[in-house]
Amino acid sequence: MGKRLDGKTIVITGASSGIGRSTALEFARTSPKNLKLVLTARRIDKVKELAEDIKKEVGDGVKVHPVKLDVSKADEIRSFVDNLPKEFQDIDVLVNNAGMVKGVDKAGDIKEEDVNVMFDTNVTGLINMTQAVLKVMKKRGESGQGDIINIGSIAGREPYPGGSIYCASKAAVRSFTDAMRKELIATRIRIIVIDPGQVETEFSLVRFGGDKEKADAVYRGVTALTGDDIAETIVFCAGRPENVVIADMLVFPNHQA
Ligand code: NDP
Repeated sequence: MGKRLDGKTIVITGASSGIGRSTALEFARTSPKNLKLVLTARRIDKVKELAEDIKKEVGDGVKVHPVKLDVSKADEIRSFVDNLPKEFQDIDVLVNNAGMVKGVDKAGDIKEEDVNVMFDTNVTGLINMTQAVLKVMKKRGESGQGDIINIGSIAGREPYPGGSIYCASKAAVRSFTDAMRKELIATRIRIIVIDPGQVETEFSLVRFGGDKEKADAVYRGVTALTGDDIAETIVFCAGRPENVVIADMLVFPNHQA
């Protein structure tokens, strides 16, 4: 699998923590020669630390380009693609991982600002990134070439009380991906949706506005997945032979109903 990824340019959103960070490390470990990683998030200090960690672990074979990027800002996405250094411009794989959940209010009470931040990040941000990178991928080969891997959630399939907006945002990721797959059928561009179940990351901390006690309580007594579990799934999908598309994956902890 490593050989199929050799020389590729991979863009990951939300690489500063959790699944995104694990995914960057997993790509680097799987293909430590000539890989090019473009790692993005708002917390650029954490992305730069990750770049150092990758270098320590696999050496200089993997070239890393850290970029500060807020996916909820359309202008930042435009300038991100326009300003990529030449050696990182030929994007092979986009991992649309950046995402968040805010609040536990019922649909009737949820604050407008929370609705907006979840949709701007999880849906509009993912769409804008996809469109920007698709333009690059469409110019490759005869009919376009590349992989777009979207991180949805089990919440998009199994909505739960107190999560209406987040669940709706992740259902949108699934529908967007499925429609695009049909549009891209005659090309060599694969589009994949991976829906994780419960993964122990900073996700819960963000949901509870930084309240660590509430965030930790979510994982108490359960064996959640780790970021590495989803990272391995992402890299597996990207490493399939060209004629194979893993369109859709649901990965959740054994205990999760
Ligand atoms: P984390 O909170 O650890 O990671 C979220 C990442 O998204 C961070 O790197 C954060 O970076 C980034 N991010 C958030 N908002 C923005 C933004 N506006 N612009 C750019 N980057 C942003 O959580 P996870 O790793 O768990 O989450 C990754 C994905 O997995 C998300 O899409 C989430 O919805 C999904 N998921 C998570 C599950 C879980 O149980 N943890 C279950 C199912 C799906 P920064 O703050 O530096 O910008």
